[in-house]
Amino acid sequence: VSPAPIDPVRVRRVLVRLPNWLGDTVMAVPAVRALRAAVPAAEVWCAGPWAEAVLEVPGDCAHRVATPPALGPRLAQARRWRALALDLALVLPNSLESGLAAWLGRARWRIGYAAEGRGALLTHALPAPAGVRHQVAAYLELLRPLLGSAPPVVPPSVACAPAARLEARGLLAGTGVAAGEGVVGLQLGAAFGPSKLWPPARLAALAARLEARGLRAVFLGAAEAAPLLEAVAAAAGGPVRSLVGRDRPALLPALLAELDALVAADSGPAHLAAAVGCPTVTLFGPTDPRLTAPLGPRQRAIWRRPPCAPCFIARCPIDHRCLREVEPEAVEAEVMAVLEARP
Ligand code: SF4
Repeated sequence: VSPAPIDPVRVRRVLVRLPNWLGDTVMAVPAVRALRAAVPAAEVWCAGPWAEAVLEVPGDCAHRVATPPALGPRLAQARRWRALALDLALVLPNSLESGLAAWLGRARWRIGYAAEGRGALLTHALPAPAGVRHQVAAYLELLRPLLGSAPPVVPPSVACAPAARLEARGLLAGTGVAAGEGVVGLQLGAAFGPSKLWPPARLAALAARLEARGLRAVFLGAAEAAPLLEAVAAAAGGPVRSLVGRDRPALLPALLAELDALVAADSGPAHLAAAVGCPTVTLFGPTDPRLTAPLGPRQRAIWRRPPCAPCFIARCPIDHRCLREVEPEAVEAEVMAVLEARP
């Protein structure tokens, strides 16, 4: 028996539990905006680790809430949601914890996918999408009980504050480059695990090829990417231009918006770059671009797809052929294609 549809008129207070990963949070933006459009008078709270970096107040929601990393504090936070008298909780992650949090928060209606045995915690537990479904579409599909159908898929977009753009420009200037000069960011790292990473020697070779064309290669990444940067510099035979460890989550959208192009693993920065309008070449190996390729104009995905792919394993158990088979020349060609497609 399908659960009863939800009347949008009766939805006045909403919590959106955002995904835990940056890239997934970006891919959830169209669902957040479609929800806002469906219940324009409702007060919306968006909770998740990346709410602050990705969503705008008041454009996307009335309140952004950071979720604590540990389970205990997260569930304690969920109990405090009771005071909000929520009508609806839209639960985007598939975890048991997020379903439990919606239930503990006593939201009247709780929509999410039936996963991890949490169906009984949700009032609207939808079956997992059948077949190959892009993640943006999968999040939009969750609005079906409220809208009667899933809204159309649109590429996510994220805005950058002018002050952040200025600060990002200053950071780039510190490496001796300026936006518009053919600045190509090379993003190091992927939170998922090493199986998504292109070998450092390939990255060094790509940077050299781009520089030889008169472009400016700048390595980007969180502070944890410092060992990778060292490996790239060792392969390059000397220091490389780098902002590794120099930005921060709140500045990242603006920094990516200042680039002329980005090369990245299937990772949060790739999605964020696409959402701020930066042309992106995304290298796929163990994951599937049909599910998670960044959407939007001038977005390219490279996927060699050996028989073992996609495996969704964080550490390759064999020889990492899915990414070792990607040659620097091929990535360079894609970078040139997105640069030449500039308006
Ligand atoms: S098993 Fe195959 S798809 Fe998975 S990481 Fe290794 S080479 Fe890539």
